[in-house]
Amino acid sequence: MTSFAFRQPPVVGLPVVGLETRFPVRRVYCIGRNYAAHAIEMGHNPDREPPFFFQKNPDNLDPSGEFPYPPRSSDVHHEAELAVMLKSGGSDISVESALDHVFGYALSLDMTRRDLQGGQKKLGRPWEIGKAFERSAPVGPIHPVSLVGHLSSGRITLKVDGELRQEGDLKQMIWKVPEMISYLSEYFELAGGDVILSGTPAGVDSVDRGNVMEVEVAGLGAMKVKVV
Ligand code: MN
Repeated sequence: MTSFAFRQPPVVGLPVVGLETRFPVRRVYCIGRNYAAHAIEMGHNPDREPPFFFQKNPDNLDPSGEFPYPPRSSDVHHEAELAVMLKSGGSDISVESALDHVFGYALSLDMTRRDLQGGQKKLGRPWEIGKAFERSAPVGPIHPVSLVGHLSSGRITLKVDGELRQEGDLKQMIWKVPEMISYLSEYFELAGGDVILSGTPAGVDSVDRGNVMEVEVAGLGAMKVKVV
């Protein structure tokens, strides 16, 4: 047994529907601009160009149902996303075999300090302060593939206080889930516990304290998250 110089940080464990055991998080990859209509609203080309990814931290994933409005920002945006949880991984995974590595799917939010992200973009700097802040990725319980199968189409929506803000269909993803897994595995060694946030449809916008965000994906139910 390794002994540590001080108390080791806990492994983040996410609840799984139908199981007492939790999903241990290893890494969090997020794809940018994966729905054409969202690429356009952000001022970018919607064509299928090579994908790009950024990362959040494992402990940014938060199943609590509350999102604390983060410091140092006055423009925090919601991005409703389908999260893909891996049970295994490797390098150079083929598109054909990629889904064999998926453990399950969950509703998630890629919360973004848009003002800080925008400043970093202008300077050509990394996005972490806009993306990888505390509790920046609210996430619902994981639905295992054994219960829900694989999701390649179906409506994805986000409401704020009951008003529809984001709407799309999973089939509009520019890079499909198996393609994302395969692509990432060319650059990183993937492993069980890795999480991929698969991008957001059009309609991203600001939230304020007191708002209730509700994400829905067909087949996965709904997740409510209150901004506090
Ligand atoms: Mn996103």
